[in-house]
Formats: sequence, C-alpha cells, structure tokens
Amino acid sequence: EGAELWKKVDRYITDQLIPADPVLDEAQEANAAAGLPAIDVAPNQGKMLHLLARVAGARNILEIGTLGGYSTTWLARALPDDGHLITLEADAKHAEVARGNIARAGLDHLVTVRLGAALDTLPRLEEEGKGPFDLIFIDADKQNIPKYLAWALKLSRKGTLILVDNVIRDGEVIDASSASPQVQGARGLFDALKAEPRLQATALQTVGSKGYDGFVMAVVVA
Ligand code: SAM
Repeated sequence: EGAELWKKVDRYITDQLIPADPVLDEAQEANAAAGLPAIDVAPNQGKMLHLLARVAGARNILEIGTLGGYSTTWLARALPDDGHLITLEADAKHAEVARGNIARAGLDHLVTVRLGAALDTLPRLEEEGKGPFDLIFIDADKQNIPKYLAWALKLSRKGTLILVDNVIRDGEVIDASSASPQVQGARGLFDALKAEPRLQATALQTVGSKGYDGFVMAVVVA
C-alpha cells in the first residue's frame, strides 16, 4: 500500500514538473532492450541532480557509476558548452549502451565514459590532473562508498558538492550487525563523514518509484 502510493505520487510529481522528454525516454528504452537493470535514478531524482549542478554552477563533474547514462544525461545538461563530465563504469556493456545514449542526447562533446573499475580509473584521473571537480556523484558499487568518498575528497576543492545515492537501504543502515556489504558501505560513509573535518554533510531519506532509500549531500568546506 505504502509503496504503491509512493509510485503514484512520483508519477504525479513527474507529470506536473518534468515535461515529456523523448531523449530520456529513448535512453530508458535502450537500457531495457540491452538488459540493463532499472537501477538508475528516477526522473524526479535526475532532475534534482540537474538542478543541484546548476545551483553549484558546475563546469566539471565526476560521476562514479554510469549504468546507461541516465543520471549522466541529467547532469551533463546542466553544463555550459565548455564544461565536462567524466563518468566511470566497470561494465563494458553498460559503458557501450551509455555512450550510445549520450551520443543520441547530443552530449558526447561534454561527456567522457571511462571503462574500468573506479578504484583503478580514479588514480588515473588524479595522475592526469583532471580535478578538482565542482560536483561528484557517487553511485556505483555500494561496498566501496567509503573509498570513493576518499577519492572524491582528493579530487575536490573548497566548495565541491558531493552526492552519494542509496545510503538508507530500506532503513537497514541503522543495523550495525547487518551482513550486507552494501549496508556496511553506507555505514562506513556515515562514519567517514562524521570524522572528516573537511566536509559538512547531511542525509535525507527518500521514498518513491525506487522504493525507500536516501542520499547524502556533503560540501567540502576546507
Ligand atoms: N548513476 C546511474 C543512473 O542513475 O543512471 C546508475 C548507476 S548503477 C546504480 C551502478 C553502476 O555502477 C552499474 O552500472 C555498475 O556496473 C557500476 N559499477 C559497479 N561496480 C563498479 C566499479 N567498481 N567501478 C565502476 N563502476 C561500477
């Protein structure tokens, strides 16, 4: 009952505030056709990412976890013409589908999809001097979230906005004894945020078409 209502309300929000968008619809269809799991952000969440990137005036964005490039598209649409978004993806098929979607969205001049496990590709970014990023969206394998946060900090400047998705996990985040590596990844994130003087952070629980979860928002303050 609750979950059905969350879905209906998400549909209402989307119908009211997010105009039909053939490019994004096609991307979702391409993802489904290629057998990608529907674990991308919901349309209203994607638009929130887009608006946050705009508020931040982001010119240089890093995303960890591309899937089919749905959140990538929302974020890249917030960039100025000389902006750039680098998105990291470990799965070759996901990266290929994402590249197709990004090209069809007319965003390939702004977006680079880097294939490889993020813990391998993040050090390359540092070596190549790709940072600092204005906004970093962490949405890959959840057990590695604390490591991704450490990399995000390395690739940040004062003012960088760091967003981390799926940190509530049906409320299981409060279970210290959870055997789930994903839950322990989220808990490790909260521990790291609490201990990190360079960050100011909060988290919000969310419900909607993607169930009960939530995200962390952190700003680099020093
Ligand atoms: N951000 C995407 C969106 O909203 O459209 C959804 C990303 S999905 C939740 C997580 C993605 O991270 C998957 O495509 C998965 O293959 C990828 N992934 C998993 N482990 C990874 C790793 N070690 N390095 C990079 N990407 C990884």
